Amino acid sequence: MTVTQDVDGRRKTCTSWCVADHAADPACWGEDIHKVHLTTEYWDSAEDNSITPYAHRSTPAHRELVKLHFYRPSDREHMYLDADMHLTADEARQLAAHLVAVADQIEEAGK
Ligand SMILES: [Zn+2]
Repeated sequence: MTVTQDVDGRRKTCTSWCVADHAADPACWGEDIHKVHLTTEYWDSAEDNSITPYAHRSTPAHRELVKLHFYRPSDREHMYLDADMHLTADEARQLAAHLVAVADQIEEAGK
């Protein structure tokens, strides 16, 4: 389903997965439901260390990508991480397959 909204005085068409209200950001965002809380990346008193993948379509390119948000706050500047990386759907699938392969590898080695 495609939803049409008026953003910045121009007609924009949202993606079918967009949940953004576009009040200030013309980019389309998918739901925030895929967050992975990291249990070994703890520094200082931070409790919300995570990696979150989102469906994302930025403007003006209108290219639908996977946005990976890395979040590991820290009082130590060299440890602080709050960054995004963008992957194509194919790159995201490659990464997912490699993550599963490596996870299987370390589990097998631990048996
Ligand atoms: Zn949208």
